[in-house]
Amino acid sequence: MSELFSDYLKKYQKVLKNLFSQQNLPSEELQRGIPEKVLDQITALNPSAVSIPQAYGGRGSHPAEILSLLESTSYESLPLSLILGINGALFLEPLAKYGEEKLKNETFPSFLNNSSLGGLMITEPGYGTDALAMKTSWEKSRSGYTIEGEKHWAGLSGRADYWLMTAREKKGSDELKRDIDFFICDSSDPRQFVKPVEEFSNLGLYMIPYARNRVDIEVPSHHRLIPGKSGIRLMQDLLHRSRMRFSGMATGFIHRMLDEAVSHTRQRVVSGKSLFSYDQVQKRLSELQADFTISSAFCRHAAGISSIDHDLSGKSLEANVHKTVLSDMMQNASQSLLQLVGAKGYKLSHIAGRSVVDSRPFQIFEGSNDVIYQQVADQFLKHMALIKNFNLSEALASHPLTSRMAERFKKITSFSVSPDMVQRKKVDFGRILGRITGLEWTLEMGQGGYDPALINQALESMTERIQALLGSFQGGNKACYIPIESGNNVFWRETVQS
Ligand SMILES: Cc1cc2nc3c(=O)[nH]c(=O)nc-3n(C[C@H](O)[C@H](O)[C@H](O)COP(=O)(O)OP(=O)(O)OC[C@H]3O[C@@H](n4cnc5c(N)ncnc54)[C@H](O)[C@@H]3O)c2cc1C
Repeated sequence: MSELFSDYLKKYQKVLKNLFSQQNLPSEELQRGIPEKVLDQITALNPSAVSIPQAYGGRGSHPAEILSLLESTSYESLPLSLILGINGALFLEPLAKYGEEKLKNETFPSFLNNSSLGGLMITEPGYGTDALAMKTSWEKSRSGYTIEGEKHWAGLSGRADYWLMTAREKKGSDELKRDIDFFICDSSDPRQFVKPVEEFSNLGLYMIPYARNRVDIEVPSHHRLIPGKSGIRLMQDLLHRSRMRFSGMATGFIHRMLDEAVSHTRQRVVSGKSLFSYDQVQKRLSELQADFTISSAFCRHAAGISSIDHDLSGKSLEANVHKTVLSDMMQNASQSLLQLVGAKGYKLSHIAGRSVVDSRPFQIFEGSNDVIYQQVADQFLKHMALIKNFNLSEALASHPLTSRMAERFKKITSFSVSPDMVQRKKVDFGRILGRITGLEWTLEMGQGGYDPALINQALESMTERIQALLGSFQGGNKACYIPIESGNNVFWRETVQS
């Protein structure tokens, strides 16, 4: 690939802008699946090449290029960016890192020359958060492996040309081994085709088909990925890299929300005044701008550490901070835009309304935020136990991901936390730690030369939000659901006198 990436990106952005400015036609609002004209024009630009190593004809799988491509795509279309994100981080990059030579030589040309798309199947109806307990199983056959089970919610169900399939080895008649194995399935071979048996009417992301799929396939022996130490380590490496790719998708998306919000509020006049001139509106706009800066800092950080040459299996804290904080910022950005646009935004055809539903599942897939924030907290508590110091301010100062931010938060974090805090407190704690880490990376981006006024705005805006979270973290509410029995008075009218 001799073309400079910067020249390629300009060409790519131009085609995308042109394509999506024609997309808001009423007849296409409710269309599901990838419109052929979008797919043809995008795949003609060969975006898969950024995730394929040079030795196989790609651009080299450089994280900065992958993140820039995702950023430009999500500015125009979040669903398309997610398709490319899945195709890269959940298929091409693991294949490049863990595939046999024969398999790579067979598969990559199909992405470079035939516009193929790949996806990943992990989740099963009974096993989402608890994915390691999956029941899809494999056994050796004469020519390879047979795989049986059920998978659902895999992006591009029924549409992907290739799947990365996960399964556990059968141990006896009923038992399965603990480890997870990965296999490539080529949908063009009927024996490897994963059949959708129930198509889902997903709430948003209309471009991406989802379904419940029956897995009853046989793949050749060289289609099994070769894990370094274990399949679970492979899965951690793969998922952590994918979580770090959220930064590209989030940055383009939040940038678009910001631009839409600025443009709308400048034009709209309410009670004789430009909406842009109201203080509450400025609060929202500055928060959007701050989140765009912070998200850009996540990109800068991810670009430095997430190449396939690095083993990310041990980087759960950093990866989990990316996933949770960025997906929360995406959802907040879309909610803020919808608030500013008002009723006009509450249409399926308007970018504000669509963005609310399109960005929402980012808080659910690849690990639910409620669970992952808890994991962030658990890891930080391990650090506190290691240094034998549960004073938050001192622990922040001694942790490599928060040390530079510690001084800024010293006054409000000089208190001890309990290592045995309840789960809801851990979730709050994870939220706080994730945001402080994000500010650390923002500060680093400032030292790299990013505009100082924007860095200061981001620091101030997020510090205020962290203060609010610290307030709730220190609150003592332990309320649980109260089962309602016949003796409870739960009728408001019975409480009214006369
Ligand atoms: C749009 C979309 C795209 C997806 N894409 C893919 C894909 O490409 N490939 C794929 O394999 N899968 C995909 N998924 C599936 C996704 O990864 C799972 O939905 C996710 O892991 C959560 O699993 P679940 O839905 O079974 O929820 P559950 O595991 O039932 O969890 C539901 C909720 O329960 C709560 N919860 C769960 N466990 C705990 C706990 N320990 N403590 C406290 N609260 C808890 C959380 O609030 C959680 O959100 C996708 C899902 C969606 C919605």
